[in-house]
Amino acid sequence: MRVGDAVVHMLSVGVNGYGTIGKRVADAVRSQPDMTVQGVAKRSPDFVADHATATGYSLYAASEGDMTPFEDTGIDLAGTTEDLVTDSDVIVDATPGGVGEQNRTLYERLETPAVFQGAEAPTVADTSFNARANYDAARDAEFVRVVSCNTTGLSRLLAPLADAYGIEKVRATLIRRGGDPDQSSRGPINDILPDPIAVPSHHGPDVQTIFPDLSIETMGVTVPATLMHLHGVNVTLEATPDVDAVRERLARESRLFVVPERLHIDGCGELREYARDAGRPRGDIWENCVWGESIAVKGSDFYCFQAIHQEADVVPENIDALRAMFGLADVGESIARTNDSLGLSFRETPDGPPPILSTRASGD
Ligand code: NAD
Repeated sequence: MRVGDAVVHMLSVGVNGYGTIGKRVADAVRSQPDMTVQGVAKRSPDFVADHATATGYSLYAASEGDMTPFEDTGIDLAGTTEDLVTDSDVIVDATPGGVGEQNRTLYERLETPAVFQGAEAPTVADTSFNARANYDAARDAEFVRVVSCNTTGLSRLLAPLADAYGIEKVRATLIRRGGDPDQSSRGPINDILPDPIAVPSHHGPDVQTIFPDLSIETMGVTVPATLMHLHGVNVTLEATPDVDAVRERLARESRLFVVPERLHIDGCGELREYARDAGRPRGDIWENCVWGESIAVKGSDFYCFQAIHQEADVVPENIDALRAMFGLADVGESIARTNDSLGLSFRETPDGPPPILSTRASGD
């Protein structure tokens, strides 16, 4: 395995599956000082392929059978996925759920480590991963799974609460967007779905892949929106902290944006507009957005609303997973390097300065 060897040079990362997550991870890798994009693999020569080549990424076809359509449209190829896996130190697999598991055989055969995404079964990897909660679990691992957007959002919120106060029980309702903006075939168009209807939902067990001993029950809802997910969270703590202390504690987390009341951000649409105004690439919000006014503590019960930009929050986690696997940095260094390179800047402590708006773009 080349894990040990790769520490000595820029980590060469191949991105297999260049869709919503893959294109963002590629741009994030490109912005890191210790990583480079070897290339990206795609199935079809569409507008996304055009953008990949215009961005300067070497393009690989998913298989030999997929090469002809690219060649017919005059798009230059560097080879197939098999070549990309051979040429790369590590693969970030951002193909649709289930395809990653099939690809694992190829990665094993070519002795190339890989990072998988949240729709894969946890068994696809040696460990599931969230940088804030279990960075060291991915050290020297050959296969790592970055958990889903919802599980990432919950893990980032629960880790500091567990560290500071201890957690007795978590209850969360996840109001999920029906699809991403480019997924016009998804829905519902005009309905509000208990999803899944059976309670509790599968999201709690997924959080337990990060916090094995956590007591957590979740319920899922799907709504006709594409912007973000919205979580209503109740955590019964092992302590009875002051609400201001909790708000301050959360505001110190670099990937939690405690949205200040003075900004008058009343929903997910305004959050996304805030990100676009800040010049974020694709209007992405990598941070959890926790409304400051929603943070409440009643006895030992903590409550809040948080919004999660599903297309973006797992992107910095993929970068940190790569560093953890190859021993390129410890957790604090990696998170700081990733945040700085991407431009994660939406922060506000209760009496601190206003959020610094970033105009740095991580990609195009
Ligand atoms: P997507 O459909 O936007 O992108 C997947 C890409 O992989 C597509 O371009 C598809 O053509 C390509 N592809 C399919 N089969 C391939 C193959 N054999 N070889 C190479 N490319 C192939 O999907 P996505 O939304 O980016 O999701 C990818 C993974 O990320 C899933 O595990 C998903 O659960 C996870 N994820 C998605 C989101 C989200 O909101 N979209 C959030 C967090 C995690």
